[in-house]
Amino acid sequence: MKSMKERIYNEADTAAIAAEILAVINSSDDGATVLALQGDLGAGKTTLTKALAAQLGVVETVVSPTFVIAKYYQTSGTDFDTLVHMDAYRIESLDELVPLGWDALLKQPKTLLIVEWPEKIIGALPDGRHHVVIKHDGEQRNITSL
Ligand code: ADP
Ligand code: MG
Repeated sequence: MKSMKERIYNEADTAAIAAEILAVINSSDDGATVLALQGDLGAGKTTLTKALAAQLGVVETVVSPTFVIAKYYQTSGTDFDTLVHMDAYRIESLDELVPLGWDALLKQPKTLLIVEWPEKIIGALPDGRHHVVIKHDGEQRNITSL
């Protein structure tokens, strides 16, 4: 996401930020496209994920996957077929990724894999991922790409 500059945004601008992200990431036939969303509790990771899901044509309600770790959603109308929303907060060891079918997930084509708390599984994330950091900035949020 090298082309995305720092942005200050409020919740009403979330859709615009999501559109900007989707404009610079591409679906791939060779494997999942990974979008790491890093930020403290309450930073707005799930809010942004919901906006991304809406723009990917997800009709199911997106809920935080904290307890199930990863949730799969069918998308429509874009080059992506599947959205996977992962919350790595509770993961303590990369071994916990094995039962999630992690290797197969990374190889899954036309898939957008959004990871909240990416720092928990940083060693398992591909170098080619898109990685953004969201920070509290008063009533607003500040988003930057790494
Ligand atoms: P996270 O998933 O990072 O823990 P959430 O997406 O659940 O955070 O958002 C936490 C709170 O912050 C919610 O009350 C939400 O309404 C608010 N929020 C989300 N994005 C923004 C934003 N850009 N500006 C202001 N408030 C926001
Ligand atoms: Mg969240």
